[in-house]
Amino acid sequence: MILADELVELIRAYNPKSNGKLIAAAYNYGRAMHEGQFRHSGEPYFTHPIEVAWILAQQHLDDATIVTALLHDTIEDTNASYGGVSEQFGGEIAMLVDGVTKLTNLQLSSTQTKQAENFRKLFMAMSKDLRVILVKLADRLHNMRTIKAMRTEKQAQKARETMDIYAPLAGRMGMQWMRDELEDLSFKVLNPEGRASIMRRFITLQKETGDVIERITADMKSELKKSDIDAQVVGRAKKPYSIWRKMQQKDQGFSRLSDIYGFRIITANEQDCYRVLGAIHQRWRAVPGRFKDYISQPKSNGYRSIHTTVSGRNGRRVEVQIRTQQMHDVAESGVAAHWSYKDGVRGENPFAVDPVKWISGLSEQFDAEEDHEDFLEAVKLEMYSDQVFCFTPKGEVVKLPRGATPLDFAYAIHTRIGHACVGAKIDHMRVPLWTRIKNGQSVEIITAEGQTPQATWIDIATTGKARTAIRRALREMDRERFVKLGAELARVAFEHVGKKATDKVLGTAAKQLRLDSRDELLARLGSAEITTQSVIQAVYPDLAPDESEEVAGERAVIGLTPGQSFDRAPCCQPLPGERIVGITYRGKGVVVHAINCDTLSNFEDQPERWMDLHWDAGKHKPIFTVQLWVTIGNDAGVLGRICTLIGELKANISDLKFVDRKPDFFRLLVSVDLADAEHLHTVMMALEAENDVAEIERYRNPETDRPSADV
Ligand code: MN
Repeated sequence: MILADELVELIRAYNPKSNGKLIAAAYNYGRAMHEGQFRHSGEPYFTHPIEVAWILAQQHLDDATIVTALLHDTIEDTNASYGGVSEQFGGEIAMLVDGVTKLTNLQLSSTQTKQAENFRKLFMAMSKDLRVILVKLADRLHNMRTIKAMRTEKQAQKARETMDIYAPLAGRMGMQWMRDELEDLSFKVLNPEGRASIMRRFITLQKETGDVIERITADMKSELKKSDIDAQVVGRAKKPYSIWRKMQQKDQGFSRLSDIYGFRIITANEQDCYRVLGAIHQRWRAVPGRFKDYISQPKSNGYRSIHTTVSGRNGRRVEVQIRTQQMHDVAESGVAAHWSYKDGVRGENPFAVDPVKWISGLSEQFDAEEDHEDFLEAVKLEMYSDQVFCFTPKGEVVKLPRGATPLDFAYAIHTRIGHACVGAKIDHMRVPLWTRIKNGQSVEIITAEGQTPQATWIDIATTGKARTAIRRALREMDRERFVKLGAELARVAFEHVGKKATDKVLGTAAKQLRLDSRDELLARLGSAEITTQSVIQAVYPDLAPDESEEVAGERAVIGLTPGQSFDRAPCCQPLPGERIVGITYRGKGVVVHAINCDTLSNFEDQPERWMDLHWDAGKHKPIFTVQLWVTIGNDAGVLGRICTLIGELKANISDLKFVDRKPDFFRLLVSVDLADAEHLHTVMMALEAENDVAEIERYRNPETDRPSADV
């Protein structure tokens, strides 16, 4: 087991200001916590955290990262707590250890290769600090180095995970050496035969050609010496996995030397890079199309280097990378270069990329598979916000913008699921739809047949995709509703003037009013954008609207003196069958009230004006208008259903006003033409029985105690 002193010594070598006491304290704390625990290999468990710390120390990382490595399994596997670590080592380290623990707890077992990219993003989204990922990568590296101790099927699973998630993640972090090693260790588990065959070819090749690396290295060194350039030449065989991958990609055999060996020339400064390039090209022929200058045009991750491939006398090709030491450090340790120390000074490397910029460079553009409208809204909403990654019940990762709700999740899965959503569970607990999803949570959507998008959802959804889908569905439902209502209004209005609202007639009206179609006409009629009168007049310009309906009821009341006319009081709108009383007005006939009308109290001190009246049971053929307050849920087809229902009960809707439009309900004032009180009762009972009718109430307004015509 590596001793605390050895670790401190390794760190002091690159960072003399390192806090040796802190490192030793973490070492002792970790060892005490893991006391009595053992690895699969039988070694004490604590050997693992030390090795992880060692890997990171070799990368010249800061004290906080190294301490985190020593403690990285304590919160997860021992009695240590977040509070305990925080108390002993401070908030920063507790936060880092907690971050590693969270990544460890992610269930990656359901990983499919196509999901790997999302898992990598989830990792990054869950890590407030990239050092968390560095520790996690070093953790995985050590576990892969010691994987032989595990059960066979566990080995394969870990290797697959490493190949799919961790190795590319190391690549993203710019840590090329780590990526190479993780890939090779996984390759050894996943395809031992493939790897062995490549190793055998190496040996064969070496027998045929001798030590190529040594010879070419010597050649290059002497060439540089001639040009009086001081530079370091390093030759290496590429890793078996990268050779294997190239063979697969190019469908080539193991023949091209340039794909097997690579050479690096490390110079003292940038000018020397170009001098080296000149010297190499002078001596060997450059292979066309293989030259790249990443010094004048660095990659976004800070990578700088000159690449070229040259061919020697025997026609064999060799790949050469030329760069300065600082460029090399960034190329090898990537984002870790930001934290790494040199001679006790932190982050001096001018080519190191700031971690914040690093992350923002990784976030990819929104992919424009949705239609344009969706796309624009999505860009506005999502481009500047972070993302959250959550799981389906099957373990697939879903990417959403931060602040997203289960409704967004539902629409992200499928528009159909979104439309049918009635509830959600997060981590198996029932939650309200407006709950904000957090990284790593599992989300389950509860759906029900017949559910339709609600207007309130617009405020709950945050993604462009969900909001656009909801809005579109609401628009369609509104239109459906308005078309039905419009048809009903048209039917009534045309019957009023003795005509029929046939499709042909409505088509003609639509043309006259320059509307696209009959449905468009009906939708506008239903949403009160146009009036029934204008529709009738568009087809029958000579017909004036009928305004004398009350006259028809004249003879229906018994008890009037001959020649006396009556009006129904607008405050109570009495109907045949109801008990009534008349109030006389000088010179202007009689106003008929319902016997229980509140307005009548105004006339209590004038008994001479009261008349005993009752309806003539045999004579109430004519129709009487009654206004009803109706409150209905804002759902597809409710209004249409209600209109149809009223029609089926042989009552007509002569007018309809939207008094109040809330997202989830409409309040309407509906004028219904009825025969008598019993008829009204039937209609009201039927409406009340309707599920979507929240409230129905007869209109009463004591303010209007006389027919307006009298005043
Ligand atoms: Mn570990």
